[in-house]
Amino acid sequence: MTTKLGRQWWVVTDLDGTLMDHRYDWAPALETIRLLQCRGIPVIPCTSKTAEEVCRFREQSGLRDPFIVENGGAIHGENADGSPWQQTLGPSWQELRPQLTVLARDLGQPLQALDDLSDQEADRLLGLSGEALQQAQRRACSVPFVSPPDGESRRRLQQLAQARQLAVVQGNRLGHLLGADVSKGRALAVLKQRQGASDVAVLALGDSPNDLPLLHAGDRSIVVPGAKGPHPALQDGLDNGQFQLAPAPHALGWAAAVQRWIPGLLDGVDPLD
Ligand SMILES: [Mg+2]
Repeated sequence: MTTKLGRQWWVVTDLDGTLMDHRYDWAPALETIRLLQCRGIPVIPCTSKTAEEVCRFREQSGLRDPFIVENGGAIHGENADGSPWQQTLGPSWQELRPQLTVLARDLGQPLQALDDLSDQEADRLLGLSGEALQQAQRRACSVPFVSPPDGESRRRLQQLAQARQLAVVQGNRLGHLLGADVSKGRALAVLKQRQGASDVAVLALGDSPNDLPLLHAGDRSIVVPGAKGPHPALQDGLDNGQFQLAPAPHALGWAAAVQRWIPGLLDGVDPLD
């Protein structure tokens, strides 16, 4: 295993279910985020959330690093003068939205889009209401929807999407319809290139199947479990040693896993080497 002496690290993290719990609480990770900021280690959100939602999180957390939204549909950041930039990496919401109806017809089951949920349904399913819900519903390049309840329908839906040059990925609460080439891993590769940071080493953190491309792209990859343990789709990577398991759910586990890495991150020495 290569020791990454002298390499800069990025912490690239999913938000929902990983840094945040099911009530969107990330307070237990605040001190660790501050520590990373003090040491000049970027913390890069890589999430299903919209840019508006991540901007709100950045205001609350004081983060100024670039970020990846809508499961890799776009990357965002700030220029040296503080003005924002963004780069879209796949088809628009306007192109994707009618395709969800087509896929529902192919599947023979209704697929309810996030933008079609009533306030009561959204509150029950997502714990979101009011302005927070509207920020989640205003998509640019992905269509979240309520996934079919059974695994067989979910697998078939993925195949149907592939046949139409699309992709369906599963997040921690919703499915997401994306362009075929859109993923968190590809967005990270584009972001590295754009930032002139091809050599940077990545500590990747995620909790759900939609994080697999990010976890596979990481130089070190941490699975953050939920209250009932890690997502079964990430178990293979844990069993074969590709991924490590954080010692607790959500922000507590996130903070513990990152803190465990900080000595290595600071010295450029990989603590597992
Ligand atoms: Mg997640």
